[in-house]
Amino acid sequence: MTTQSRQWQLVRRPRGWPVADDVALVEVDLPDPADDQVLVRNLYLSVDPYMRGRMNEAASYAAAYQLGKPMYGGAVGQVVGSRDGRFPEGSFVRTGKAWRTHALCHPDELELLDPSVAPLPAYLGVLGMPGLTAWVGTFDIGEVRPGETFWVSAASGAVGTLAGQLAKRAGCRVIGSAGGADKARLLVDELGFDVGLDHRAGDLEGQLRAAAPDGVDVYFENVGGEHLRTALACLNPFGRIAACGMISDYNERSPGPDNLFVIVAKKLTIRGFIVSDHAHRTPVFTRHVAGLLREGAIRYPETVVEGIESTFEAFLGLLRGGTHVGKLVVKVGDPQ
Ligand code: NDP
Repeated sequence: MTTQSRQWQLVRRPRGWPVADDVALVEVDLPDPADDQVLVRNLYLSVDPYMRGRMNEAASYAAAYQLGKPMYGGAVGQVVGSRDGRFPEGSFVRTGKAWRTHALCHPDELELLDPSVAPLPAYLGVLGMPGLTAWVGTFDIGEVRPGETFWVSAASGAVGTLAGQLAKRAGCRVIGSAGGADKARLLVDELGFDVGLDHRAGDLEGQLRAAAPDGVDVYFENVGGEHLRTALACLNPFGRIAACGMISDYNERSPGPDNLFVIVAKKLTIRGFIVSDHAHRTPVFTRHVAGLLREGAIRYPETVVEGIESTFEAFLGLLRGGTHVGKLVVKVGDPQ
């Protein structure tokens, strides 16, 4: 017997913004699981900004996607066929086999999930890779201290929503910036940030100076370009930047900051990081954040888009911004 899997493949490398002709939704037949194989039916797929980098020929920090092969990334699914007793049929797992409905996996590629700790999509967001990124960036890289002023950009997204809430709980005054007045309001009203800025409203530096009259101590960088220039202008002496991402650069070149000398003059520390180098922090992160979830102490907004057909459009929406709040996932099936 075979199982039909629908999967998104990269068929051409995008130049600038990806377009529909760069990808194709194709059907492939999967055989029954062989020894040491598990068949997983995906329920939720993750779309993440780093996937844009993988569409390029040159690898950045992650390997490039291959043409004619499925685009991969985080997914949560249910085991529907198993030759390994550790992953019985019906169990829930996290894999790296996104952008498809079904996948044959080696047991080493699977992590068992406990849906009683949090709903399944949370394992792709607040309890997954973006959550660990926010946690490492705030504590290990940003080294936030009580009383400091903390600014996070792309604040209404998967990483930003958690980073801001963690910094707030650590005793910081927290400023978030996001696209649009509604998102800026949500940061304050629903996530407990002190101030929400709207980067689409213009004069970002003026907005930040008004929000942080005593300057910024830690900037959690997700955007680059004008945001980075503004951070350099507003950071205090010995300020720190946790350089997590620069999404304004992923599809087009944004102009770089013209005020780099302040790095010297203010004796700033800028530290880039990639979450995969910090995998050893996963147990501490999971204990901490799962505990906060159990206490209801943090919120983790999610935006769920329906259907495997919608995956590519959802990915474009993630890159453009303006639509989703929190972690963006694509739902491709219901648990049995
Ligand atoms: P988000 O959920 O935050 O989605 C990305 C958001 O970025 C968009 O929705 C948009 O929000 C905002 N954005 C896009 N373009 C611009 C722009 N030109 N100017 C300002 N804002 C823009 O994604 P994630 O939380 O998953 O990722 C956030 C950042 O973290 C990304 O830079 C990503 O690459 C990085 N990252 C880094 C990791 C690491 O290991 N270093 C790991 C995971 C993520 P809006 O509507 O508010 O404009």
